[in-house]
Formats: sequence, C-alpha cells, structure tokens
Amino acid sequence: MNDRTAVLPGAFAERMQRLLGGEYEAFAASYGQGRQYGLRRNLQKGTEEEFIRVMPFPLEKVTWTREGYYYDAAAQPGRHVLHEAGAYYIQEPSAMAAVEALAPQPGERILDLCAAPGGKSTQIAGRMQGQGLLISNEVIGERARILSQNVERMGISNCVVCSEKPERMSALFPSFFDRVLVDAPCSGEGMFRKEEAARQEWSPEAVRMCAERQAMILEEAAKTVKPGGVLVYSTCTFSPEENEGTISAFLRAHDEYNIEETALEGILSPGRADWVEQPAAGIGHTLRLWPHLLRGEGHYIARLRKQGQVTDKKPVQGAGDKKLCKLIERFMREELGIGDAWIARHPGRLVRFGEQIYLMPAEMTSLEGLRILRPGLQLATEKKNRFEPAHALALTLLPGDSSRMYGLSGQEAAAYLRGESLACGEQRGWTVLSYEGYALGFGKASGGQMKNHYPKGLRKSL
Ligand code: SAM
Repeated sequence: MNDRTAVLPGAFAERMQRLLGGEYEAFAASYGQGRQYGLRRNLQKGTEEEFIRVMPFPLEKVTWTREGYYYDAAAQPGRHVLHEAGAYYIQEPSAMAAVEALAPQPGERILDLCAAPGGKSTQIAGRMQGQGLLISNEVIGERARILSQNVERMGISNCVVCSEKPERMSALFPSFFDRVLVDAPCSGEGMFRKEEAARQEWSPEAVRMCAERQAMILEEAAKTVKPGGVLVYSTCTFSPEENEGTISAFLRAHDEYNIEETALEGILSPGRADWVEQPAAGIGHTLRLWPHLLRGEGHYIARLRKQGQVTDKKPVQGAGDKKLCKLIERFMREELGIGDAWIARHPGRLVRFGEQIYLMPAEMTSLEGLRILRPGLQLATEKKNRFEPAHALALTLLPGDSSRMYGLSGQEAAAYLRGESLACGEQRGWTVLSYEGYALGFGKASGGQMKNHYPKGLRKSL
C-alpha cells in the first residue's frame, strides 16, 4: 500500500481486486508511480525530422501512435512559442489510441460527437490533412468554446465546430459520416492517477448513470454512420458496465453493427468477455489500456463497423457568392502574398457571419439548424471597403504558402505573443510572422514598425 492506493475509493478498489485477482497488486502499485506526460505532433505542419529539430526538449516516442511523444514534466511545453503556433497538442498518451483505432483518412466525412477540449478532434484533423469534413461537436457551450480555440490554434481548416445534443446531430445527419467517434463522458476511473477530482467525484451510482448516458449517446451516434462506415467508442474508465457492457448491450439491439479488429491488437490488452453478462461476439477484439502494463493512463476502445455498401460521394454545394470570392482571393493574393498552393489545398464555399468571412468545407451540406461556433476556417473580417486577415488563417500557412512570411527570433516571437510591436526593416503591409517556419499570426508593417495583430485575448507572457 502507498499514499495513492490508500485514497482510491473503497468500492472501486474492491471491484478491481475482484476483477484483476493476482494482477491487482501491480495495478494498485501503478498509483504510486508518477503519471506519464505526452504531446502529439501536428501532422499538418512539417515533417517529423523538422519537428524534432526545433523542439527544445527531449522527446520519446509513444509506441501505439505515430505522432505521439513522452516528455519530462519539467519541460513545460504549454509555455512555449511552438505551442501557440500549433506545432503540437498536449495530450495524455493513452488518449491518443482511440484515433489510431478510428483510422481517419483524408477526404472523408467524420464526426467527433463528444469533442471538447479537442484532443481527439485535433488528432483526427492531422490525419485528414485538411481534406474532407470534420464536424467537432460538444454539447456544453463553454467547453465548445475551448474546443473551437484549440481547432484554431492547430491550424485546422476543414472543421465545423458546433454545440448540439446527440439526438439533434442524428436528426440532422442521418447515415452521413464515414467515421464517427464517441469519446463518451464516463466515470473517469482511468484518470484517478492524473486528476484528484476524478477520484472525489466517483461513486458506484455515477458509474450506473454514466452507463445509461453512454447507451443513449451511442444510440444516436449509430444513426449518423453511413452503411459501411466505422463507429469508435472510447472511455477513460475501467468499469465493465461502461465498456464491454455498453458495447454488448448496443450490439444486442443493433445487428447491423459488428466489432472489428484494429491494428492495435497485440500492442494493447484485449477487452474482457468474462467481466460482463452476455458479452457480444468479438468483445476480445476491443481494447483496454492499463496503467500497470504500459506508459499511460486507463482507457477502453471498441471499433464497430456498420454493415452495407459505402455509397459514392457526391459534391454537395453550389459556388457561393462569386463577387465575394473574387474580392477575398484578390486580397489574399495581393495583400497577404498567399499563392496557388494554399488556394488549391482549400476548396470550400465562403459564408458570411456578420462581418466575419469563413471558408466552409466543401463537404458541409448546410449550417441550418445547428448551433455553430466555427463554420469552417475564418479568413477575414470585412471592414468598410477593406478586409483584415483572421488570425485563424495565419495558423494554416506553411512555409512557402505566403511570399510575405517573416521569420522571428525566439525573443522576438515571445515579444510578439505578449502583444508588443516589433522593429522591422523595409517591409510594408500585412506580414505573416513565423518562428522556425511555424506561422504565429499577422503583423502590419509601416515606417520601420511592425504593428502587432496577435489577438488581444490570446496574448501572454511565456
Ligand atoms: N474527446 C475529448 C478530447 O479528446 O479532448 C474528450 C471528451 S470527454 C471524455 C466527454 C465529453 O462529452 C465532455 O466534453 C462532455 O462535456 C461531453 N458530454 C457530457 N454529457 C454529454 C451528453 N449527454 N451527450 C454528449 N456529450 C456529452
């Protein structure tokens, strides 16, 4: 027994002891060991080699996902210029496995139904490489705002962020998505080592309530998957009721779905058919992540396939406002120096939200009836007879995308993030300021001074 195991909720410890038998001691001992810290490289920004070259602290690879790394807590990666540039996302290593099981592909339509704060959505977007449609939904408005900020920071252009109940999403998007992720709200037992609050809020009653809610969410999510599509269910808890139990009950009611194997089998532990009554066929192909068996916290993942043929994709939109298209393209080309490469990578339709102009992903049918936080990539704000570039646009720019990119030193970049104006030479007009090739935001140069356009709400001292 150590300090941590002593504070595990009694009923939880008893249940885990009963389930794990001889393995329980090793499981309990893991609570006395330090937690693991992870971050995930943004696959949309540069190569792995470039990333490793610019990262200022040592990284060690996570074995179950290609973009994940461990770091030492002392490195404090949340307080670094490259974090603000969206070069990486701080994420618990085990949490990276669910998207690995989802296996998103460029060009698909994907729904992340329970998406805030955005760890898995931003990982999905990295795999999609800006192609196709990602809808990131979070029912709680305040959490949806944080999700939207993370989508912006990571430079994601093909994501619509909304805040709806699952039943509303299923009514609006029946049989629409190639892949759907349900990273369900759960009793959080897998986070006991990481979060004191998870331990304090836990109760057997909370486990029961979570299982009921998961069944409801899964029911609605299932309706949004198109025939032939994939549904991934994940939790960060150990209780069989919320894992093998939820999946088995769902499959008893849905013979159009079956459990599918994933490439993670053999790397992660199998789901346990012997821990639930009436286990579904194939429950051993679902996945468990155990803190005493790997370097990460507790998780569960099931990948399901809906039977049927994958239907052909059809283009769904008209051209939009042609005059606005021309004006925006001219502004981007002439004033921001953005060239063909960026424009070719970003198909879509322009939509106005007040004075804000967004590029809505080409696969998005309609925004009608949705509580939208982000209808796509924000391009510009329309002022009287002119445009101002949106911060979100800067974060999508890669080296070579704009002829008006200006590299800052580490000290200059830190001053820019604090909101200070910078000295500059002959440069005039809108400028994309970058650090080590990662775009940070816009400035506007005139008379030897670079006026700072880093959004006031994001300014910070690192
Ligand atoms: N996928 C997120 C990530 O990787 O950053 C974490 C999601 S968290 C495990 C579950 C989310 O489900 C929470 O943000 C929570 O607000 C949301 N949620 C809570 N109740 C819900 C409900 N009834 N329907 C849908 N989502 C719900």
